[in-house]
Amino acid sequence: MSDLTKLTAVEIAGLVAGGETSAVEVTRAHLDRIGAVDDRVHAFLHVDTEGALAAARAVDERRAAGEELGPLAGVPVAVKDVLTTKGVPTTVGSKILEGWRPPYDSTIVQRLRAAGTVMLGKTNMDEFAMGSSTEYSAYGPTYNPWDLSRIPGGSGGGSAAALAAYEAPLAIGSDTGGSIRQPGAVTGTVGAKPTYGGTSRYGLVAFSSSLDTPGPCARTVLDAALLHQVIGGHDPRDSTSIPQPVPDVVAAAKLGATGDLTGVRLGIVKEFAGEGGEPGVMAAFRESVDALAKLGAEIVEISCPHFKYALPAYYLIAPSECSSNLARFDGVRFGLRTGDDGNRSLEEVMSLTREAGFGPEVKRRIMIGTYALSSGYYDAYYGQAQKVRTLITRDFTAAFEQVDALISPTTPFVAFPVGSRTADPYQMYLADLYTIPTNLYGGPGISVPCGLSDGLPVGLQVMAPTMADDRMYRVAAALESAVGTFTPPAL
Ligand code: GLN
Repeated sequence: MSDLTKLTAVEIAGLVAGGETSAVEVTRAHLDRIGAVDDRVHAFLHVDTEGALAAARAVDERRAAGEELGPLAGVPVAVKDVLTTKGVPTTVGSKILEGWRPPYDSTIVQRLRAAGTVMLGKTNMDEFAMGSSTEYSAYGPTYNPWDLSRIPGGSGGGSAAALAAYEAPLAIGSDTGGSIRQPGAVTGTVGAKPTYGGTSRYGLVAFSSSLDTPGPCARTVLDAALLHQVIGGHDPRDSTSIPQPVPDVVAAAKLGATGDLTGVRLGIVKEFAGEGGEPGVMAAFRESVDALAKLGAEIVEISCPHFKYALPAYYLIAPSECSSNLARFDGVRFGLRTGDDGNRSLEEVMSLTREAGFGPEVKRRIMIGTYALSSGYYDAYYGQAQKVRTLITRDFTAAFEQVDALISPTTPFVAFPVGSRTADPYQMYLADLYTIPTNLYGGPGISVPCGLSDGLPVGLQVMAPTMADDRMYRVAAALESAVGTFTPPAL
């Protein structure tokens, strides 16, 4: 048997269904791989060895009993620590939830279990999903398997690194401003942000509720589509969930893999061209645009004049929503409680708990958000940012009257060295320059590996209209068929 950790999810599921290997064997291979490399990569915050083996055994028993298995049965998956997992620690990368074992599974995790996938454990992330490098995790950074001195992106760097290090063939992320796509780009893996409301937020620890979107991460576009199909779709327990079936992303990925984009119109966002992309990133992007044109796509330049205001609007809206969402971490209801010696008031205990439990970036966001929402400033900041959000949505609507999808580099720079951007928050925020407009609009976006710059991966982003997630998979799979996949140096 070839190395089970090097296979795609499709290949693993095929071998398990055909009885050529067992889910237990596959799971052990991945647990061994985690044991061999994760002290260097630190993709995982918690490995659920017992739970994974039990889930794998259940799949093997169902197969032995002649039951029909789903398309991803027996395939291991790593889950970002932002999603609740019943009885399994969920920290959101924060000290404030250290040791918390949720009493329930998030919808995404329920669906993963129902599909017979095997959850290996919980992956590292920037605290409360705020960051672009995983350096803001309270449990120490994750390292990029392509170069262990560099960051794996963020906030979902753990999920992306687990894929690139062959610790898992599938992973789950969450994307509020780019946290699935940017880690995908800098680790040479695929990451998709579904249409907002296309995947359930039930059991997703909230950062910015109008933007948060869980989604699939994988090493190939088809694997990501299969995972998307399993986790997506209407959930009555999420009030913003869209009551429609998931677009047929699997069929779209298969269609794209034929390498024919005849009749597909792709728009390059004009305003992104001048905005600080590294030369190596821009070169890889231009080569990919040529490759897409060779596949038959028609390439047009599109102006989205308000995209340049997306970053500042996001950094008012996201902190505002977070300042409200994080009020629930008060030392009474969840996790950490500090200073409760019987002599202190509730307010003192609350403030000592938050002082000890939240890291500097989270505190910065809560302060910005509280200020932006305060009476007297509300209209000038939050109200203004919401107006900008409407203008950005109009840019997308106008663009999609002319083209089927928009394309751009996923992020302006390749994986940067650990420690090189933490001193200046704005330098960190720039990582999401190209991904944030999609979140403000609510449409889907995917990052697919498109080339290398100085030996480090570059991602191309495809953005589609809301509920046209299938379209972005088609384009991404077509590009993948032309440029191939990218393998990091052996660890
Ligand atoms: N990097 C962005 C931020 O820090 C986006 C994070 C995310 O998508 N969760 O807010």
